[in-house]
Amino acid sequence: MNTSPSPRDPQDVSALIHAFLAAPEQNRIEPGSLEPAWDAPLVGIARGDDPIFESYKVHVDPRHWTPLEAFRLAFPNTDATAAELAVVAWILPQTEAVRRDHRKEKELPSRRWALTRKYGEEINAALRDHAVRELCAAGVQACAPVRLKDWTRVEGGPFVFASTWSERHAAHAAGLGTFGLCDGLITPLGKAIRVGTLVARAAWPATPRPYAGHRDWCLFFATGKCGACIRRCPAGALSTAGHDKPRCKAYIRGVTSPYVERELLGAPVNACGLCQTGVPCEKGIPAALLKRPAKG
Ligand code: SF4
Ligand code: SF4
Repeated sequence: MNTSPSPRDPQDVSALIHAFLAAPEQNRIEPGSLEPAWDAPLVGIARGDDPIFESYKVHVDPRHWTPLEAFRLAFPNTDATAAELAVVAWILPQTEAVRRDHRKEKELPSRRWALTRKYGEEINAALRDHAVRELCAAGVQACAPVRLKDWTRVEGGPFVFASTWSERHAAHAAGLGTFGLCDGLITPLGKAIRVGTLVARAAWPATPRPYAGHRDWCLFFATGKCGACIRRCPAGALSTAGHDKPRCKAYIRGVTSPYVERELLGAPVNACGLCQTGVPCEKGIPAALLKRPAKG
């Protein structure tokens, strides 16, 4: 369903993303429900030639794409340069109903959380495809890197598990958040979120990054205190040393996914996210940090 103007500038793209999610038939927590999966999104833009993307080859994985590498996979004959590209990122925040249910859980995901992990991510996939279609129809070439057939998870790099395009890192580049102790992206709408991205051939201006460092909005890194996410993790996958990805993955694959299939949805879903609720960064930048003067 086309619910927005032809997207030729950043305001139109943002309006398109908002309009898609504002349509109840496109934003349901499960088929037939009147309850939304996601609250209103937050949208940001990074320039395709932002050097931060080259730095991700070091900080994420050598196989991580730059925006131009992703764009060339979608448009192999393109003559576009990195400077002609924009990366659009959006944050999909969990609703209060989802966060409230999940906050009460200690070991296993709530049903609502599992629903957004399944149907909410399907909505996110549909949103990526819709936005790309609308942009292309308006004469703006675009692709969603994680929807490309070449996109893949990679193992064995500096961070054990990574992918060829990290939407959280693209959102960080687009001014939408910084990383927490648990690796989640802490945004102005909190850490209980999902992220979507696309790359467009458009000379749109970047959203300013209102932070100097990639961990500025985590209380632990900013003040040395907190660690609430450590206490929320039932798998022992979080510590002051950070996120033990293999341990987290083993818990999700071995415990929560079978539980969701057996007890909640009748299908396996890689849902956990207990470290994203019941913490000071659940629904915004921790209040204690908002009172401090900005660094840098
Ligand atoms: S719960 Fe505390 S330590 Fe963990 S990511 Fe949030 S602010 Fe950082
Ligand atoms: S997703 Fe679950 S297992 Fe992984 S770190 Fe968070 S709470 Fe722990």
